[in-house]
Amino acid sequence: MALRRHFHSLHQNRCVLALAMRMTQYLLQQRKYTIDQASTMKPMLIDSKLFRHCFRKEQGRAFVNTGSGTWAIKTNMDSNNNMDRSPSEVLDGNVINGKVIADQIKNEIKDEIDELVKSDPKQRRPHLSVVLVGSDPASVIYVRNKARTAAAAGMTCDILRMPDTVTQEDILGELKHLNSDKTVDGILVQLPLPKGISERFICDAVLPEKDVDGFSVLNIGRFCVDEQAFIPATPLGVLEILKRLRVETQGKNAVVCGRSKNVGLPIVLHLQASRNGDLSAGNATTTICHRHTPPDQLKAYTQKADILITATGIPRLITSDMVKDGAVVIDIGITRIRDSKGKYKLVGDVDFEGVKSKASLITPVPGGVGPVTVAMVLKNTLMAYKKEIDFYQTAAHRMTRSNS
Ligand code: NAD
Repeated sequence: MALRRHFHSLHQNRCVLALAMRMTQYLLQQRKYTIDQASTMKPMLIDSKLFRHCFRKEQGRAFVNTGSGTWAIKTNMDSNNNMDRSPSEVLDGNVINGKVIADQIKNEIKDEIDELVKSDPKQRRPHLSVVLVGSDPASVIYVRNKARTAAAAGMTCDILRMPDTVTQEDILGELKHLNSDKTVDGILVQLPLPKGISERFICDAVLPEKDVDGFSVLNIGRFCVDEQAFIPATPLGVLEILKRLRVETQGKNAVVCGRSKNVGLPIVLHLQASRNGDLSAGNATTTICHRHTPPDQLKAYTQKADILITATGIPRLITSDMVKDGAVVIDIGITRIRDSKGKYKLVGDVDFEGVKSKASLITPVPGGVGPVTVAMVLKNTLMAYKKEIDFYQTAAHRMTRSNS
């Protein structure tokens, strides 16, 4: 009997190894899913009677169904199924290179789209439609960048240009058309819109499942209650930067300067929220500062911040005396100013040179959050294409299903 048990366990161990090898090979073939070193591989045997392979990938693990049980192998995938890379790849000293992060994201998106299309030649590529009203020079550049980046990531993209004389009804008519077009996955309406047109009205007219900017009330509402939602690209970019740099937020003091609905506020919402919801949020003690925060109070708060995020558009708002040693500083602000030689340049809210010597990590302007923002629009578009968010399933539905 003991001998039989011994052989049985030997057989099981060999099966564990064989399966681990096959999974390793499979994951390596996929390139995107390279596996951790053997020492950190933790195959867990539940049952190994049958080797009916069925791969599932989620939250840093690859699963294999053995027919009567499931094995999990730890991989270097993050919770979004992207490769969890070393932070050093995107750092130049303590300066975060947003361009490198954006390239990583674009390449990951492109690899995934190429794989999807290769596996089914009938499959079309994800499509993003951008609505541009008027000819605001900054908006024209943003839209052009988004279209170029979408093409580089293997998506198709079209820009619907409308003159600034259009009426709200004209825009709504176009959105209705795009909403019902099955070949359009994501819709962006470039803001700001000309005077006389209600941005709220227009943003809410985009179908939630195509609202890859996350500006519609349904997306905002779901985000507020920790339900899966499209998060606006700039906040999502900031969260992605923190994730890729492995910045722990739980229990930390986070201070956000700026409370705009599309930038500061969503960051605050995510950082303060519980990690138990759909969005695996920040669990940080979070403070919002805004234009009515007196300067001495602003300094008192920022000095306590382990993570300081600023989105105000006020150059040099944050100076080195306002920053705690070792803080992580993320600068979203972009302002065009004239330097001493009369040349135009872009600056953030942070006195970069002064603060750099105190921060453990810092984003520059330009080249920090900006490029990542554009990449996150594409990430949302890919999610829309894959229909990853079920907008018509509420928490109540889920409860009913799990109880049945
Ligand atoms: P906004 O004007 O809507 O909001 C500015 C916010 O700053 C407000 O909430 C205001 O209360 C706050 N503020 C003003 N003075 C302050 C002070 N003294 N202390 C603390 N807070 C103060 O602007 P927005 O759309 O949120 O953009 C903010 C900045 O981020 C701008 O410079 C914008 O260009 C930039 N931005 C960058 C990206 C990117 O991709 N990098 C994307 C969007 C916006």
